[in-house]
Amino acid sequence: MNRRGPDPDLDPAGRVDWLREQIITHNRAYYEADAPLISDADYDALMRELRAIESDHPDLISADSPTQVGVGGAPSTQFAPVEHSIPMMSLDNAMDMGELRAWGERTHRRLADIGSHAKVRYVCELKIDGLAISIRYENGRFVRAATRGNGRIGEDVTANVAGIAAVPKKLSGSAPSVLEARGEIYMPKESFESLRLATITENEQLVATGKKPKAVPVNPRNAGAGSLRQKDASITAGRGLAWWCYQLGELQGSDTPASHSESLAWMASMGIPTNPMTTIFDDLNSVYEFCSSWITRRHDLPYEIDGVVVKVDDLEVQAAMGSTAKAPRWAIAFKLPPEERTTLLRDIQVSIGRTGKATPFAVLEPVFVGGSTVGLATLHNQDQVKAKDVRPGDTVTVRKAGDVIPEVVGPVLEMRPDNLPEWQFPNTCPSCGEPLIRREGEAQTLCLNLACPQKRLAELDHFVSRGAMDIDGLGEQQLALFMELGFIRDFADIYSLDRNRLLELRGFKEQSVDNLLAAIESSKKRPLANLLFGLNIVHLGSAGAEYLVTEFDGLEAIASASIDELARTDGVGSVIATSVHDYFRDPRTSAVVDRLVAAGVNTASPARSTLERTLEGKAIVVTGTLEGYSRDQAAEAIKARGGKSPGSVSAKTFVVVVGESPGASKLAKAEELGIPVVTGDQFESLLETGALPS
Ligand code: NAD
Repeated sequence: MNRRGPDPDLDPAGRVDWLREQIITHNRAYYEADAPLISDADYDALMRELRAIESDHPDLISADSPTQVGVGGAPSTQFAPVEHSIPMMSLDNAMDMGELRAWGERTHRRLADIGSHAKVRYVCELKIDGLAISIRYENGRFVRAATRGNGRIGEDVTANVAGIAAVPKKLSGSAPSVLEARGEIYMPKESFESLRLATITENEQLVATGKKPKAVPVNPRNAGAGSLRQKDASITAGRGLAWWCYQLGELQGSDTPASHSESLAWMASMGIPTNPMTTIFDDLNSVYEFCSSWITRRHDLPYEIDGVVVKVDDLEVQAAMGSTAKAPRWAIAFKLPPEERTTLLRDIQVSIGRTGKATPFAVLEPVFVGGSTVGLATLHNQDQVKAKDVRPGDTVTVRKAGDVIPEVVGPVLEMRPDNLPEWQFPNTCPSCGEPLIRREGEAQTLCLNLACPQKRLAELDHFVSRGAMDIDGLGEQQLALFMELGFIRDFADIYSLDRNRLLELRGFKEQSVDNLLAAIESSKKRPLANLLFGLNIVHLGSAGAEYLVTEFDGLEAIASASIDELARTDGVGSVIATSVHDYFRDPRTSAVVDRLVAAGVNTASPARSTLERTLEGKAIVVTGTLEGYSRDQAAEAIKARGGKSPGSVSAKTFVVVVGESPGASKLAKAEELGIPVVTGDQFESLLETGALPS
């Protein structure tokens, strides 16, 4: 990203000019073209810096500074202008809990000044990441919809909003003569995913016929805003947009409700969608708790939020508190940590995995996103790099939501330096120099050299990983060192590491060497399925390994079984069966297995469960915490009765068991697919009988 510009200490005036120019450019891209060039967090950083310099140098403040003028962008000429009878304001932001508390204290003092602090209540609402809209009803009929625009003048998007099913066209009950419902038009995650996939599919066609691909939508906010502001309203109608109302605007022909929460309830009673998560609190500590809880809960929602809005409930108190030029004093937006940032793509490199797969990955200028600093992100395979057309030197959007692996969403084309060359997938392995092979019709590119050092390191790393032999203290770094020193060439060598030779190494203290050797020793007791999974047999995952050890009595029986016998195992197809069979027939791999057996690893299948197989073949999804069971124990209990315990709901799910604090998305999916749902206290009877409670 172009983060240069004049030095703020040497030339504050020049810096201020530069920041203003940047912000104006970004406002245009964001509000007018619905195609931002940088992430919201990066934009917010520019705005904050400008505000800080202006506050240190008040002589530099000018009336046209973005910190002083109204909100949003200039209304476009594509839509007719609409003057808002009551301005549509922005909100002040609190970027973290400290700033939220500071707002709370300020508000408390202000309320004390006007004598209202005793009875005050706060309404907390989700800050929906979409586009602000004002929808006007006259005598209960939908007559007009306008965007926020610059706060005073918005754009007439009546035809577009008319096609959104979630917006009622006629209010129920006795509606007032004029009612303006203000809220956020947004694109649910599901609609966004369909649009994204449809664009990718369309692009494949376009590229195949030599045409230029369309920009793949980057996030629901921009896709939603772009979908609403379409010239052709029928396009908007097909994009699955929705809306939540969070504010009463102009009102005629009825008394104004006493509080914000009452106005929401009143509008809801007329059929206007209001968000069910809205909660009222009497004290600020509960407000803080609610706000911080959404840092993690945000991922359970079927739509995106970027914060929580806290509002003083009493409308008279709101009026007494008033507003600044941009935002009301009675509300604050607590912003959740950013999950999207823009940064420089320094390089694209290729790593070789345990199966020899060559995976391109992005080397980024490190950015703090989704709660951690991200410097590397996978780019999956050659086609993905091509489809995204990311090039070293590009400014790219990086996304990391919760525990999800960081992803490079795509380049910001407007910021691409001239003549930036397209990235080429290497022809040879960066580790061993052998040619990389991509077979006809396959997405993966492979290094087929069994002796490739990076592949062997990845295999060893997999063998010691938690899902396999779980050897603590033997990480990639140590493995690489032991390989280099010739201590380890294959899995079996791990069990003959010599204590004295390890102690001779720099940085290897007696205690840590003994801990490592103890971890290696105790790994010999790991279940047979973990050993099988760790052997790195092509196509055999942890589930397949579990099936095999349940079906066969021990390693010897698996190793000597024919392809047909192996393929008869439930969940093991002929591809896996052939691969397992060949592995134990190959003298190179079977010799390593023999040495592992000689070292004393566990080769026995687990004792069979004596429990009745009440759930044979049934998939049971557990969401939330069940009393008396950890997550693993609940899964074990299901498996011990012949059932499966997948992590997500699908059409094949038999039942969803709902414990304490369940995931909203799993429940929504169950409802959508009509899957039965039972409560946590019915889990035991489900295990016992395998039947749904009547
Ligand atoms: P804002 O988005 O921080 O907050 C105000 C808006 O929140 C309201 O107008 C409304 O649309 C929305 N909102 C959602 N739920 C709400 C609720 N329950 N109650 C009230 N309002 C609710 O402020 P803004 O002035 O709309 O925009 C500024 C922000 O826009 C910036 O902080 C930045 O994140 C983003 N922006 C980004 C770029 C970019 O280049 N990436 C450029 C300009 C603006």
